[in-house]
Amino acid sequence: MLSREELKEIAKMQAGDAFFVSLYLNVNPMTNIKNNYVIHVKNMLKDTAEKLDKIVLKKVNSDLEKIESYIITNKRAFKKGLSILSSSEKNYWKEFHLSVPVKNEIIVDRAPYIKPLLDILDNYQRYALLLVDRESARLFIVHLGEIEEYSEIHTEDVPGKHKKGGWFALSGKSYERHIDYHVGLHLKDVVKQLETFLSREYVGRLIIGGSEGTIKKVKAMLPQIVADKIIGTFQAEMFAKSNEILEKAQPVLQAFEKKKEAETVNDLLTRSMKNENAVIGIEDVLNALQEGSIMKLIFLKDYKQTGLSCKNCSYLNIQDIASCPYCKGEMQKVNYIIELTAQKAVEQGAIVDIIPENKTLQESGSIGAFLRF
Ligand SMILES: [Zn+2]
Repeated sequence: MLSREELKEIAKMQAGDAFFVSLYLNVNPMTNIKNNYVIHVKNMLKDTAEKLDKIVLKKVNSDLEKIESYIITNKRAFKKGLSILSSSEKNYWKEFHLSVPVKNEIIVDRAPYIKPLLDILDNYQRYALLLVDRESARLFIVHLGEIEEYSEIHTEDVPGKHKKGGWFALSGKSYERHIDYHVGLHLKDVVKQLETFLSREYVGRLIIGGSEGTIKKVKAMLPQIVADKIIGTFQAEMFAKSNEILEKAQPVLQAFEKKKEAETVNDLLTRSMKNENAVIGIEDVLNALQEGSIMKLIFLKDYKQTGLSCKNCSYLNIQDIASCPYCKGEMQKVNYIIELTAQKAVEQGAIVDIIPENKTLQESGSIGAFLRF
């Protein structure tokens, strides 16, 4: 999973004469019938090799070969987007499997090219998830439907209740106070680490899991700026597996996203009605795509549409026309016009926002876009 901290480390990696090859490839199975990205990547690598300075090519040739053989051998294991950063000279290889589409490109430079990865962090909401009890805590990032554990916090000297009457030899009441003191220290530590984490990763939303009592205690200790990020709480076992925790947090996430989506759709409809850089419906979206003006494409997850694509310039249309109005090329039938639209929009630098369900959007054509101009 992407993290800002890791990307920061990668960004620092430029040293001396070494070169990096950075590949971004659309590997979406929907827009790549018969894995035709293998052909794309071969062509891209060939073009890159031809354009490179001979001395640089000598340095990165083995990277280009390694990337090609990696993609050929792993073709079934991909998500929508793939990014590989490679430098044989520096003995470095890093791959990112992305559940969002990326623009196809290869950059050869003295530093790894990570702007598309930073854009994914900025453009798709990330959530921090804190699971906390009286003696430990776990911190997770949720991004693009996936969860990853970030760190574990143990405050060693919180005495367990089972030690009651043990070597502490404290009377009942002072023992309770003793425990409260240690739990307080632990939670203080958790809050401090949470704050560092949120500011280091620029995560804007927070979900807290645990027992009701502990959540209440933690909430009371949070600075306002952190408390404002909370979108909900949930109950979960401290030692649950990551995916179980994500499942437990799902109702909070879904409610939040549904609200955000409704706001986006309302904004889209209002602006398209006023003709303020927004369009609704596949025909207007395809026109905007042809003009290269889409800033953010929005569509329903289940929206399917067949159409035509120009064999020559890949112009997309849903009307039954024999030849392309732009280049007179032959039009061919395509089944996944929405996926193709999304990929083309990404190639033009747009963000793609896929909405699971929204009645208003469904009634207005299931697709729309905010425009740059
Ligand atoms: Zn054409």
